[in-house]
Amino acid sequence: MKILVINCGSATIKADVFTQENGELRFSGKSLAENFSDYKEAILGIVADFEKRGVLKSEELTAIGHRVVHGGLKFFEPVLINNEVIQTIREYCIFAPLHNPANLAGIECSMERFKVPQVAVFDTAFHQTMPPVATTYAIPPVLSKKYDIRRYGFHGHSHEYVTRECAKQMNIPYNEFNAISLHLGNGASICCVRGGKSVDTSMGFTPLEGLVMGSRSGDIDAGLLLFLQEAEKLSPKEMDTLLNKESGLKGLCGTNDMRTIEKRAAEGDADATLALEIFVARVRKYVGAYLMHGKPHAIVFTAGIGENSKTIREKICANLEHLNLPPVVVIKTDEEKMIAEATLSLLGR
Ligand code: ADP
Repeated sequence: MKILVINCGSATIKADVFTQENGELRFSGKSLAENFSDYKEAILGIVADFEKRGVLKSEELTAIGHRVVHGGLKFFEPVLINNEVIQTIREYCIFAPLHNPANLAGIECSMERFKVPQVAVFDTAFHQTMPPVATTYAIPPVLSKKYDIRRYGFHGHSHEYVTRECAKQMNIPYNEFNAISLHLGNGASICCVRGGKSVDTSMGFTPLEGLVMGSRSGDIDAGLLLFLQEAEKLSPKEMDTLLNKESGLKGLCGTNDMRTIEKRAAEGDADATLALEIFVARVRKYVGAYLMHGKPHAIVFTAGIGENSKTIREKICANLEHLNLPPVVVIKTDEEKMIAEATLSLLGR
């Protein structure tokens, strides 16, 4: 059994081929595309490369799993893709303007290329266990009902994967496992896991809420948005570009690459130093809030910054000795494996 996983992000495409052997999923091919101008061309290039390497033969392919960021209230569970599903994902582009259009490009291209079942797996799925106190915004409920407004949360595959792996490593049954999971990449979010379930997370209605990210502002005073809209006469689209693409680390110091920021900060660059400190301070604010849920078994770091930057991990965990904190664990995330598992389990049903 072979499963192709396509994870079309806002700036990258990650693709994996998984083979099921003796009930175990093993990846047999991994590919990453960056700096491409056309999704279709990039995906077809990846597929051609898999075929050339002998990793993927069309006749062996069982199914394709796609990462989809926002499934709104309609989709939390994995779903077999048909025209109606595509239409709904398209409608939710307005909720995740950086991601859902990219996810759709991947789906449409691979539906044209392959005639096997294709499954959409949603980033929001893991967070459906969040209680109303964590999902509800303090706005009139009539509006929330009308537009399906609530906190959804994202990076679900990653938070679930790394906390499951961590529980395994610590020999604790997952349904008893408590953790704070920090996914710090270009997109970044924190999740509070209690008893193997997400009870709160930093991203909300869209992937814009919460931490300071590569080019996203994260939490911001809503009053400031109203002010800027008026003062700068910005349209909704311009506001979207400002907050999603021109803010965050990039807005603060001109680059979203944490390696460059760390290097510049070490050389005494004031903008880079401030950007780095703001990034760390926002993370610490959330860690502090999630510690109020009770002592976790572990604090888990993952994704580009979380996995690779010892400096940032140390800054985030500084001066917490008085809390007699749990181990800090680094686990390489594998969203694609979670997507492959979800795809197989849907087909099994
Ligand atoms: P994406 O959300 O695009 O998948 P990644 O998880 O790949 O992002 O993370 C990208 C971020 O990780 C970038 O800011 C990059 O600079 C940072 N990063 C990667 N390696 C390192 C490193 N060795 N030290 C510090 N930051 C790193």
